[in-house]
Order: sequence, then C-alpha cells, then structure tokens
Amino acid sequence: MNLLDSSIVPEHAHEIKDEAREFAREHIEPNAQEYFQAGEYPHEILEAGQEAGLVAQDIPEEWGGRGLDLPQLLALTEEFYRADAGIALTLQLASFGCEITYEYGSDDQCEEYIRPVAEGDQISGLAVSEPETGSDLAGMQTRAEKDGDEYVLNGEKYWIGNGVEADWITLYARTGDDEDNRYGNHSMFIVPTDAEGYEAEHIPEKMAMRASKQAHITFDDCRIPEENLIGHEGAGFMMLADFFNHGRVIVSGHGLGIAAAAIEEAWEFSHDREEFGRTINEFQAVQHGLADMLIDFESARSLTWRACEKVANNDHAGYWAALAKTTATEAAVDVSEQGMQFHGGRSILDERRIARVYRDARIPVIYEGANEVQRNLIYGQVP
Ligand SMILES: Cc1cc2nc3c(=O)[nH]c(=O)nc-3n(C[C@H](O)[C@H](O)[C@H](O)COP(=O)(O)OP(=O)(O)OC[C@H]3O[C@@H](n4cnc5c(N)ncnc54)[C@H](O)[C@@H]3O)c2cc1C
Repeated sequence: MNLLDSSIVPEHAHEIKDEAREFAREHIEPNAQEYFQAGEYPHEILEAGQEAGLVAQDIPEEWGGRGLDLPQLLALTEEFYRADAGIALTLQLASFGCEITYEYGSDDQCEEYIRPVAEGDQISGLAVSEPETGSDLAGMQTRAEKDGDEYVLNGEKYWIGNGVEADWITLYARTGDDEDNRYGNHSMFIVPTDAEGYEAEHIPEKMAMRASKQAHITFDDCRIPEENLIGHEGAGFMMLADFFNHGRVIVSGHGLGIAAAAIEEAWEFSHDREEFGRTINEFQAVQHGLADMLIDFESARSLTWRACEKVANNDHAGYWAALAKTTATEAAVDVSEQGMQFHGGRSILDERRIARVYRDARIPVIYEGANEVQRNLIYGQVP
C-alpha cells in the first residue's frame, strides 16, 4: 500500500520526495522505536540528514541551502513523519525559525547565523510560547528593553524545540505596550544560546514524539547586541503570522504522515489477525472502518495539497493554511484511534507502531496553534 502516492505532488517535488523516502527507509524507520522508547535525541540521524542535504534546506541557495519551496518541503515532510514523527520533528526543528531571518533579516545576519545552519554546522530554534501564554501570540510577556546599543532580555519561554541543543534561537519578545495596537508590541531577535543570562533545561519527559526535545528557557538580564533585532521593532507579530501560514501547511504534512502510518498498521494487522475462523478484515464492520480511514486520509491530503498551492501563491494563505492544518491533524487523531481499536489488546503494547503513532497524533492538533484557534482563523479569514 502506497498512501503517499506522488500523483498529487507537483512534478518538481518528486525528486526530493524520493530522496526523503529513501532516507526515511534507511535512517528513520529502523531506529524509530528505539529512540521513542529511550526518549533520546537522535544526534546521529540528524547528522546523517544534514549530510544528505535533507535538513534546513528551505534556506535559499545564496545562504548555502537548496532553496526548497513549500511543495518540496511538504513532500519531504509526509515521508519523514510516516517513518517517525519524533525523529522527523528533530530533523525539521534544526532550522526552525530561520525563515524569519532570511525573509526579513540583514545580509550580515544571514551570513553569520543562517549559513552555518544550511551547512549543517549549527542548529536553531524558535521561541514563542511561554509558561503562562500559549495561544495568545499578542499576549506574550518576555521583554526586550533597549539599553544603549544592546537589548536586555527578561522572561521565560516554554516548549521550545532545541532550546538546550540549539546554537541560537529566534526569539519573539515584547518591545512595546500599546493597548490600542496589540499586534505591534512584539519584535524578533536572534539570541545565541551561550549568551550570559540564557538558561535552558529540558521539559519533563513526554508521552509522544519522544525523540524530539523541548526546553524551558529563562532569560535573566540576558544582553544581546542591537544588531540582533530582525527587521524593525514592532513587526514581530506580522512576521510570525506569515511564518505560521507556511508552517501550518508543513504541520498538515505531519498529520498526513502520521495518518498514513496508522492506516498501514491497521491494514496489515486486520489482514493477518484471525478471529471466528477468519481474518478480521473479512468482517464488514472492519472493512467500513478501514474505508472510513481512507476517506479521512484522502480528503485531508487533497485539501492539504490544494492549500499548499494557495499558500505558496499567497492567495488567502491564512484561511487555507488553517483549513489544511485542522483537517489533516484531526484525520491523524481519528485514524490512529480507529487503528488502535482494530489492534485489540495488542494496541496498547509499547512495542507496537500503532501505539507510538496514536500518541504522536495528539501533538499536531496542538502545536503551531491549537485547532480551536485554527477554527477562529477559518471563520475570520473566509475569502
Ligand atoms: C511537542 C511540542 C513542541 C512545541 N514546540 C514549540 C517550539 O519549538 N516553539 C514554540 O514557541 N512553541 C512550541 N510549542 C508550543 C505550542 O505551540 C503550544 O503548546 C500551543 O501554541 C498551545 O499553547 P498552550 O500549550 O499554552 O495551550 P493554551 O494556549 O493554554 O491552550 C489550551 C487549550 O485551550 C483551548 N483554547 C486556547 N485558546 C483558545 C481560543 N482562542 N478559542 C478556543 N479554545 C482555546 C484549546 O483547547 C487549547 O488546546 C510546542 C508544543 C509541543 C506540544
């Protein structure tokens, strides 16, 4: 069964899709269960991905990357997440946030910070969420105060991918308090993780995507040079909104990869497991369940690829990105739940791929904006 069929993928993305599939078969799939159970950061697989030119390659060619566009990244994402969501997340987070610098930053910033990520010498992260504020982007409290030719950072960030491992992060921080302009109060900064006053520790062990690591970061009078402001003060919210439109198409790909894995597992198990003298796929109820899984998956995949085109062309991007993110990530939850049911008691065995997929499916409905927030965007941005 080849659920991630190429016919829906634009021609120019086929080559990268094949590369990603081959890499996933060789490096991700065989190691997925071990890293999940150990909850370890997959350093070696990340290094292999960097060497294979499959990590951080959205970065434009002028800064050392391959300049992969949105359809190419989506094609790669589906393949990686089908193989394992936790390892895939680590590979993708290695350049999380870089887009903000290469889109809005200066050439000097790109040379110093973006090029080493494209070349596999450094990794980055993006710090937006806080312990007390997650969904309300305009409500974030971490502050950057101008002091001479420096900014002084104070506050906390939570859930930050690579907050411990990264060489530098893109930070979203408050630089204003204008009540009448809630969306103009934040700015973006490049913060080296070895800056004095930057402290990060891993958050407690997760039940899902265990091969990726998130951090709780504390900024305590952490000073960075004023040159580390990306673009201009007050533009942070706008940059983030644009960035998330692309990100949500990619997170739709997380959902599709996870859903494909769940369907493959359910299909194989139900064609093998015998009860009442026949394999359970011979029961019509099971056939209908499998059919419903395929309906969910194919509908979500069609919508996602349509949204990808819309977002790439900046055609009502916020609306389409939210539609796809919601549909594809909820398809992953629904099909993995059904996949668990068809596995009977064995569904809960830790060693089973379906048990891993079922847990991983819980995350994309939350990150990159909880799906309730996506529904607000769909309603509010209807063309
Ligand atoms: C594995 C993982 C990796 C992550 N990586 C990063 C990262 O690298 N960088 C980063 O900055 N963040 C990251 N996040 C954080 C993620 O973006 C937040 O968890 C998410 O935005 C939700 O915020 P919250 O968890 O604080 O939930 P809250 O904002 O507290 O929301 C809790 C629940 O309240 C409901 N809710 C909230 N707002 C509304 C609303 N307006 N309308 C209706 N219902 C609502 C929803 O049911 C929601 O799930 C990551 C999270 C996870 C789980």
